[in-house]
Amino acid sequence: MTRDSGTKPAAVSAQFDAVVVGAGFSGLYMLYQLRQLGMSAKGFDAAADVGGTWYWNRYPGARCDIPTTDYAYSFDPELEKEWIWSEKYATQPEILDYLRLAADRHGLRSDIEFSTTVTSAHWDEGENRWKITTDRGNEIWCRYYIMASGCLSIPKSAEIEGAGQFAGQVYFTSQWPHEGVDFTGQRVAVIGTGSSGIQSIPLIARQASQLTVFQRTPNFSIPAHNGPAPAERLVQLSDDRDGYRHAARWSRGGIPAEPTDVLGVTASEDVRRERFEAAWDQGELFGILGVFADQGVNPDSNDIVAGMIREKIRLAVDDPETAEALCPKDHYFGTKRPCLDTGYFETYNLPHVRLVDLRKQPIIRITEEGIDTADQSFEFDAIVYATGFDAMTGALAAVDVTGRGGLSLTEKWAPGPSTYLGLMTAGFPNLFMITGPGSPSVLSNMTVSIEQHVDWVAGCLRDMRDAGFDTIEPTALAESGWDEHVRDCAAITLHPTASSWYMGANVPGKPRVFLPYIGGVNAYRQACDDVVSQGYLGFRRTGRGGDQCRDGVIRSMQPDVAMVLEIMAGLGLPPMETLSAGDARALMAAAAAIRPPGPEVAEVTDGVMPGPGGDLPYRLYRPAAADQGPHPIVVYFHGGGWVLGDLDSDDPLCRDLCARSGAVVVSVNYRHAPEARFPAAAQDAFTAVQWVDANTVSLGGIPGQLAVAGWSAGGNIATVACHLARDAGGPRIAGQLLINPVVESEMMRPSYAENGDGYILTTALMRWFWDHYADPAERGDPRAAPLLGNLADLPSACIVTADFDPLRDEGVAYARALDAAGVPVRHVRARGHTHTSLTMVGIVISGAPVRAQMAGALADFFPAPVTGAVSNSSIG
Ligand code: FAD
Ligand code: NAP
Repeated sequence: MTRDSGTKPAAVSAQFDAVVVGAGFSGLYMLYQLRQLGMSAKGFDAAADVGGTWYWNRYPGARCDIPTTDYAYSFDPELEKEWIWSEKYATQPEILDYLRLAADRHGLRSDIEFSTTVTSAHWDEGENRWKITTDRGNEIWCRYYIMASGCLSIPKSAEIEGAGQFAGQVYFTSQWPHEGVDFTGQRVAVIGTGSSGIQSIPLIARQASQLTVFQRTPNFSIPAHNGPAPAERLVQLSDDRDGYRHAARWSRGGIPAEPTDVLGVTASEDVRRERFEAAWDQGELFGILGVFADQGVNPDSNDIVAGMIREKIRLAVDDPETAEALCPKDHYFGTKRPCLDTGYFETYNLPHVRLVDLRKQPIIRITEEGIDTADQSFEFDAIVYATGFDAMTGALAAVDVTGRGGLSLTEKWAPGPSTYLGLMTAGFPNLFMITGPGSPSVLSNMTVSIEQHVDWVAGCLRDMRDAGFDTIEPTALAESGWDEHVRDCAAITLHPTASSWYMGANVPGKPRVFLPYIGGVNAYRQACDDVVSQGYLGFRRTGRGGDQCRDGVIRSMQPDVAMVLEIMAGLGLPPMETLSAGDARALMAAAAAIRPPGPEVAEVTDGVMPGPGGDLPYRLYRPAAADQGPHPIVVYFHGGGWVLGDLDSDDPLCRDLCARSGAVVVSVNYRHAPEARFPAAAQDAFTAVQWVDANTVSLGGIPGQLAVAGWSAGGNIATVACHLARDAGGPRIAGQLLINPVVESEMMRPSYAENGDGYILTTALMRWFWDHYADPAERGDPRAAPLLGNLADLPSACIVTADFDPLRDEGVAYARALDAAGVPVRHVRARGHTHTSLTMVGIVISGAPVRAQMAGALADFFPAPVTGAVSNSSIG
């Protein structure tokens, strides 16, 4: 990092409890908290003063894009009272003044050495301390090394050939001259149209005689409607400041907001327009990012918002070609940081302002006179680089950090950063990161996230001192679990599809991983609190207090599954097993009526087939028009503990299996208990398979290409049908897909103890199902408990088990037993799922990759390539 000029202090060697790198919002508050703990601390900053971001980014138009009522400290009530923000979005000088005041109020400057860059940090295992060195020759020993070095503090280099050749003035928005720049009468180039470019361009245009903007990617931007701080929010704050700040801390983004449940895909055109215009008029990022509940995860919903923003751009810009070039089309709205602007698009209507679309004519090189693109040579007096930052990891990696055994941080993070809670990383004891990768940071109102991090670190240091520990470090298991959770949260959103700095895509050679935690400030805070309340789960702590390691993973459930469970818990429904069968069925039907329908398939027809106890209704799903067949056939049996369910209950799942696998799916409604008890359902299943086999051609199937599938109790009777078909000498079944199947009745395996309560299918409900279906004496019959039967010569199997399912272990046992019996078996573990979550098509997005594997297994059962399957990636 470049150091700002300053008087060179004498080199020193000293000892402190803690070293804090950075004197922005994070570093200042960290120093304050260390003082509160009575610890000695030394701060360093490459800048000549406090402020961090707000010290460096002094370009014209630099402002916050989170309302300043919210983008502020909350730890100091006196400061809150003393400071009145002049605008809704305050300017850089005002925010810098605020931070100066905060530092002065608490006398923090005396602890900070300015104009000094920390260059290395090495963990000394003998001393259990960090040795820190700086570019001014300081050597400091400290117990705790705290990187408050910023997510957006290392400017990205220009990366354009000939950048050093230009003879005119060169400016970076991120290192703007303190005395300001007067562009009057100059020909100016701006490269970059992210937030910094979009804020500065209208103001540079006011001075420059010619302004040429070089745009690689057009960005979504909405008008900030800046002005006085919103009156309503000021009233909320003055009425109940503590309540307001509490709500911010437990909100998704760090600003109190009521999340909407309106879905873009199902809202009427009027509602869509009304919600969008309200957000547009409000001029706040979280407003426009939350027009619809599903816009961050559903491409169609996202496109509604994106389309309306593009309409606004076309209205604002006079020249249609320029307007079109300014319309973002290569990424979903919100997947790159959207901007707030003041007159940005209108600036292109000025006669001396021109947009150069680098997608059409890329920059070839910077020359002495200006910029050469593929089509044209431009001459300039000044070039402004608004080209962004090596975000989130840049400042951490810029220091030569080595941990235990000489492990280097950059080497450890070569494939992408790995952290526990974004706060620490294994192998580097007592190294804390404020807003590190894997924390909500840049996706949130950062002041709220910063205070939460600093408070957590301060609490951790206090707890260590109280318990006699002097080192803390995450375990490898806890860290990999958190990394996985961070990836899981991102994977259900549209974010990973964009080439954004959130993904590291703006820096050549940087690994592409989604860097921040997108699960929300509230969910993150809860996870951090849970770690503490579980005795620092996932950490090893050592010292005279002993050697304590509480290994474990703090979050292993898929985030959307957890969300569904939370919503269901909030509904306060009576436990299913306390209802009559009729009432339970009515509840299931009501739930089915309001869920998304599942993907389109070419044809859905209902029919009946003869069964042993009367006609059996069935529903046939065809993947492509009948004349494009024939297709393999899968006979499917729904779940519901032999008591509940019908053709509608598993309809979205059947559509999904049909669309993904390219097979005809025949879903059969068998007889239910208690009206028809064991073995009625199993008999019906076998009869249905026989009937479908006999009618393969007329159903559009390929003779000999018949498989069975079923979920839960449906998985039970699907595999029982395979047993019966083998024993009867036919029909020949090519494979069995068993999704969380019931295969025994004991309910004694560990998964019942672990998951028997709280995950929708409970042990009590399972008992209720068994009681309705079969007498205790019948439950050992292999037609009820197929795990107890002869498993030789059964069809190939794909067994799906879910981590949070009481039936998990019996499914695993069945897979093992089939394998031992010589049956080819594929076991698919649905990581972080419950018994029911895989069936929630269109709701639980994380189930989609698992369903893709199921469809792959079905396709593998059949010898020939399956025609008519749609691309799995196109199904949500
Ligand atoms: P910083 O403010 O970045 O401070 C880090 C400091 O560490 C810097 O001063 C740097 O010099 C110093 N440093 C780094 N490495 C070293 C080293 N090795 N040795 C010595 N010193 C070092 N966030 C929002 O939530 N809302 C906004 O409206 C918003 N607007 C922004 C506008 C701009 C122009 C930018 C660039 C960012 C904006 N952000 C915004 C993000 C902003 O970075 C954070 O809100 C916040 O200011 C970060 O504070 P920090 O103390 O964590 O890091
Ligand atoms: P940025 O969002 O990364 O934007 C950089 C711009 O430069 C992009 O348009 C990028 O194009 C372009 N670019 C980079 N290298 C280029 C090259 N070699 N040739 C041509 N174009 C190039 O950076 P930023 O604008 O500084 O903003 C960074 C973040 O800081 C923001 O996302 C925000 O979080 C924060 N910020 C906030 C505010 C605010 O309003 N409060 C203001 C400034 C910054 P590509 O998109 O094609 O890479």
